[in-house]
Amino acid sequence: MKVEHIGIAVKHLSSSITLFEKLLNTPCYKTEAVESELVNTAFFLKDETKIELVEGYSPESPIYKFIEKKGEGIHHIAFEVEDIEAEIKRLVNEGFILINETPKQGADNKLVCFLHPKSTSGVLIELVMERK
Ligand code: ZN
Repeated sequence: MKVEHIGIAVKHLSSSITLFEKLLNTPCYKTEAVESELVNTAFFLKDETKIELVEGYSPESPIYKFIEKKGEGIHHIAFEVEDIEAEIKRLVNEGFILINETPKQGADNKLVCFLHPKSTSGVLIELVMERK
Protein backbone atom coordinates (compact mmCIF):
# COMPACT_ATOMS: atom_id res chain seq x y z
CA MET A 1 0.00 0.00 0.00
CA LYS A 2 1.23 3.45 -0.84
CA VAL A 3 -0.51 6.78 -0.40
CA GLU A 4 -2.27 7.35 -3.70
CA HIS A 5 -3.50 10.82 -2.85
CA ILE A 6 -4.58 13.14 -0.06
CA GLY A 7 -8.09 14.56 -0.26
CA ILE A 8 -8.80 18.10 0.86
CA ALA A 9 -12.34 19.39 1.36
CA VAL A 10 -12.86 22.88 -0.06
CA LYS A 11 -15.80 25.26 -0.23
CA HIS A 12 -15.09 26.82 -3.59
CA LEU A 13 -13.24 24.62 -6.03
CA SER A 14 -12.26 27.33 -8.51
CA SER A 15 -10.59 29.61 -5.97
CA SER A 16 -8.89 26.65 -4.28
CA ILE A 17 -7.56 25.48 -7.65
CA THR A 18 -5.93 28.88 -8.13
CA LEU A 19 -4.52 28.72 -4.62
CA PHE A 20 -3.06 25.23 -5.02
CA GLU A 21 -1.63 26.05 -8.43
CA LYS A 22 0.34 28.81 -6.73
CA LEU A 23 1.21 26.70 -3.71
CA LEU A 24 2.45 23.70 -5.68
CA ASN A 25 3.69 25.72 -8.64
CA THR A 26 2.03 23.25 -10.97
CA PRO A 27 -1.23 23.40 -12.93
CA CYS A 28 -4.31 21.40 -12.03
CA TYR A 29 -4.24 18.53 -14.55
CA LYS A 30 -7.82 17.42 -14.33
CA THR A 31 -11.24 18.24 -12.92
CA GLU A 32 -13.99 15.70 -12.68
CA ALA A 33 -17.47 15.40 -11.18
CA VAL A 34 -18.10 12.22 -9.19
CA GLU A 35 -21.82 11.66 -9.18
CA SER A 36 -21.79 8.85 -6.61
CA GLU A 37 -20.46 11.35 -4.03
CA LEU A 38 -22.11 14.52 -5.38
CA VAL A 39 -18.71 16.19 -5.63
CA ASN A 40 -16.50 18.06 -8.05
CA THR A 41 -12.85 17.14 -7.83
CA ALA A 42 -9.59 18.67 -9.03
CA PHE A 43 -6.23 16.89 -9.18
CA PHE A 44 -2.64 18.03 -8.86
CA LEU A 45 0.48 16.00 -9.30
CA LYS A 46 3.70 17.30 -7.81
CA ASP A 47 6.52 14.83 -8.32
CA GLU A 48 5.16 11.66 -6.66
CA THR A 49 2.49 13.43 -4.63
CA LYS A 50 -1.12 13.61 -5.74
CA ILE A 51 -3.57 16.04 -4.15
CA GLU A 52 -7.31 15.91 -4.70
CA LEU A 53 -9.48 18.93 -3.95
CA VAL A 54 -13.08 18.02 -3.31
CA GLU A 55 -16.10 20.32 -3.34
CA GLY A 56 -19.65 19.19 -2.61
CA TYR A 57 -22.12 20.45 -5.20
CA SER A 58 -25.22 19.50 -3.25
CA PRO A 59 -26.21 19.86 0.42
CA GLU A 60 -26.63 16.06 0.32
CA SER A 61 -22.95 15.58 -0.45
CA PRO A 62 -20.82 14.12 2.36
CA ILE A 63 -18.26 16.87 1.65
CA TYR A 64 -20.84 19.58 2.14
CA LYS A 65 -21.76 18.07 5.53
CA PHE A 66 -18.09 17.65 6.47
CA ILE A 67 -17.37 21.34 5.82
CA GLU A 68 -20.45 22.45 7.75
CA LYS A 69 -19.23 20.46 10.75
CA LYS A 70 -15.47 20.92 10.59
CA GLY A 71 -14.70 23.56 8.00
CA GLU A 72 -12.30 23.15 5.10
CA GLY A 73 -9.27 20.93 5.54
CA ILE A 74 -7.78 17.49 5.11
CA HIS A 75 -10.66 15.14 4.44
CA HIS A 76 -9.15 11.75 3.65
CA ILE A 77 -6.03 9.74 2.90
CA ALA A 78 -6.25 7.33 -0.02
CA PHE A 79 -4.18 4.17 -0.22
CA GLU A 80 -3.67 2.29 -3.44
CA VAL A 81 -4.38 -1.44 -3.20
CA GLU A 82 -3.83 -4.26 -5.69
CA ASP A 83 -7.02 -6.17 -4.93
CA ILE A 84 -9.74 -4.07 -3.35
CA GLU A 85 -12.11 -7.00 -2.72
CA ALA A 86 -9.44 -8.94 -0.84
CA GLU A 87 -8.43 -5.85 1.13
CA ILE A 88 -12.06 -5.15 2.11
CA LYS A 89 -12.40 -8.74 3.34
CA ARG A 90 -9.18 -8.50 5.32
CA LEU A 91 -10.16 -5.20 6.97
CA VAL A 92 -13.66 -6.38 7.86
CA ASN A 93 -12.09 -9.47 9.46
CA GLU A 94 -9.81 -7.15 11.43
CA GLY A 95 -12.87 -5.35 12.78
CA PHE A 96 -12.76 -2.16 10.73
CA ILE A 97 -16.03 -0.51 9.81
CA LEU A 98 -16.50 0.18 6.14
CA ILE A 99 -18.78 2.88 4.82
CA ASN A 100 -19.31 0.84 1.66
CA GLU A 101 -18.38 -2.82 1.54
CA THR A 102 -18.96 -2.96 -2.18
CA PRO A 103 -16.41 -0.91 -4.12
CA LYS A 104 -17.87 1.93 -6.14
CA GLN A 105 -16.85 4.16 -9.00
CA GLY A 106 -14.57 6.96 -7.81
CA ALA A 107 -12.73 9.75 -9.56
CA ASP A 108 -9.99 8.95 -12.05
CA ASN A 109 -11.68 5.73 -13.24
CA LYS A 110 -10.81 3.95 -9.99
CA LEU A 111 -12.76 1.61 -7.80
CA VAL A 112 -12.95 2.99 -4.29
CA CYS A 113 -14.23 2.23 -0.82
CA PHE A 114 -14.13 4.18 2.42
CA LEU A 115 -13.43 3.12 5.99
CA HIS A 116 -15.42 4.80 8.72
CA PRO A 117 -13.29 7.29 10.70
CA LYS A 118 -14.66 5.97 13.98
CA SER A 119 -12.70 2.76 13.41
CA THR A 120 -9.53 4.51 12.15
CA SER A 121 -8.57 7.07 14.82
CA GLY A 122 -10.74 9.74 13.23
CA VAL A 123 -9.13 9.60 9.79
CA LEU A 124 -11.29 8.84 6.80
CA ILE A 125 -9.41 6.25 4.75
CA GLU A 126 -10.11 5.61 1.09
CA LEU A 127 -8.92 2.50 -0.71
CA VAL A 128 -8.41 2.88 -4.44
CA MET A 129 -7.76 0.30 -7.10
CA GLU A 130 -6.89 0.95 -10.69
CA ARG A 131 -9.53 -0.52 -13.01
CA LYS A 132 -8.01 -3.14 -15.27
ZN1 ZN B 1 -10.00 10.66 -2.78
